[in-house]
Amino acid sequence: MNKYSNLDKTAANFSALTPLSLLQRSAQVYPDKRAVIDDDRTLSYRQFYRRCCQMSDALHRRGINPGDTVAILCPNSHEMLESHYAVPMTGAVLNAVNIRLDAATLSFILAHGEARVLFYDTEWENQVRAAIAELEIPPLLIAIERKAGASKGLADLDYESLLKEGDPEASWQRPTDEWEAISLNYTSGTTGNPKGVVYHHRGAYLAAMTNAMVFNMTAETVYLWTLPMFHCNGWAYTWAITAVGGTHVCLREVDALEIYRRIEDYGVTHMCGAPVVMNMMLEELGREGLTLSRPAHFALGGAAPPSSVIRKAEEIGFQVTHLYGLTETFGPSTLCVPQPEWHQLPLEERALKMSRQGVPTHGLDEVAVLDMASGEPVSAEGNAMGEICIRGNTVMKGYLKNPEATETAFSDGWFHTGDLAVMHPDHYVEIRDRAKDVIISGGENISSLEVEEVLYRHPKISEAAVVAMADDKWGEVPCAFVKPVDDCDELTPEEVIAFCRENMARFKAPKKVVFGELPKTATGKIRKNILRDSLS
Ligand code: ADP
Repeated sequence: MNKYSNLDKTAANFSALTPLSLLQRSAQVYPDKRAVIDDDRTLSYRQFYRRCCQMSDALHRRGINPGDTVAILCPNSHEMLESHYAVPMTGAVLNAVNIRLDAATLSFILAHGEARVLFYDTEWENQVRAAIAELEIPPLLIAIERKAGASKGLADLDYESLLKEGDPEASWQRPTDEWEAISLNYTSGTTGNPKGVVYHHRGAYLAAMTNAMVFNMTAETVYLWTLPMFHCNGWAYTWAITAVGGTHVCLREVDALEIYRRIEDYGVTHMCGAPVVMNMMLEELGREGLTLSRPAHFALGGAAPPSSVIRKAEEIGFQVTHLYGLTETFGPSTLCVPQPEWHQLPLEERALKMSRQGVPTHGLDEVAVLDMASGEPVSAEGNAMGEICIRGNTVMKGYLKNPEATETAFSDGWFHTGDLAVMHPDHYVEIRDRAKDVIISGGENISSLEVEEVLYRHPKISEAAVVAMADDKWGEVPCAFVKPVDDCDELTPEEVIAFCRENMARFKAPKKVVFGELPKTATGKIRKNILRDSLS
């Protein structure tokens, strides 16, 4: 105790941090400003807020309570954005699901998260039908009908009808504790089944504020949704754009010319995405000879940006920011802060500096590179490799119903990323390798174990190992090394690939299959490093 200790927290000076309050504020400050532009409607901040309060009330009347899970399966849209507020306003937890997953994984996620409601875009009706067929207690199905003439099909009712059940004037409660869960995001880690990463209101608020700061956002910001909102809640930009009172421009599908049109028509200032999205867009714009009439900021993350991408981006009029992060860290956890003197450097040298993952964002206490054996920080000379370990306030609560994985991820008081890096003398981190068995293809994670599990189900396969193979377009793609069973008469790569495509999301299927004996350690573990090296 000291002379300052008797000054207490009261309702006047302390409340739980939550990004939900940011929408309430923007609705008061900018009631008539454009908050959301979507294909079917444009919403002012007043309308956006009222629709969220109304949907929250409707969910509440349907019996959704604190601690329940509400899932959503749809591309970037105003409904997806509204769910980021309406669902937690009831105290429930939002589970935004990746639309590229297969029905079996969707089914696993709905069962594991115990979703009580599923909002889904009717374009994914077949997936939903197959996924809920496996469930003991199916969620209430709410159809989002965006294609003209679509019917609610197997849904219990449609989004707008559910909305009408609520009162737009209804009030909502802040969480009593900022540590309460706000969202659930499944990530495929090193094991076959995805892990449910749980975010807290406090982290979501801080991530929104810091992500707005790292990307220099203001009320003038017009943000184009090239990044899926189901990736770490759109790296918390679902809340960050609202925090600054900027405009969200939705985008259903990544299409280069459509992106260009929206940038020009709406005066887009900022967007995010994986290098593969940027590259695809740059190629198309380059072919058409299109350049931006005003510069726009593009934050790249999910994989390191090659210097060719940075060069092409700048030629077309983009200013590139490099971010690094994981689902477990609410998206961005480091950014490569450009130092003023870098502007004088020739492009190749500047691109080399920019391709480093950089320094911590403001919501974190520390991003360290720790020696894998001693757990001590490696020397900051840019050559000793260790694991990137993170601690601070924008790290997840843990994995849902998975105490072992949570304990392993948080051992020794750090969140262990499984990314291997060096620390440079200027204290910028640079990733060199990955300790975990994850393949990152076009910004989507593929668990090599999950692909192996499917391969092992094939009757003609005796052993299988899957590793990442470099690919110009996707960054990495899965390559399968397969040992056929002894009496196997014939097995072709096409047959193996077709089998995988039938049994997993298409983007996870190997692009190449190599037959032969698999190299092993003395204890019988497959030596994936040798397989990886054989590809380079
Ligand atoms: P996200 O959806 O943000 O990509 P994931 O959890 O799916 O998050 O993937 C996180 C992994 O992606 C990291 O552990 C790392 O291996 C890789 N990654 C993310 N950003 C970068 C980056 N800027 N450079 C290199 N690798 C990256």
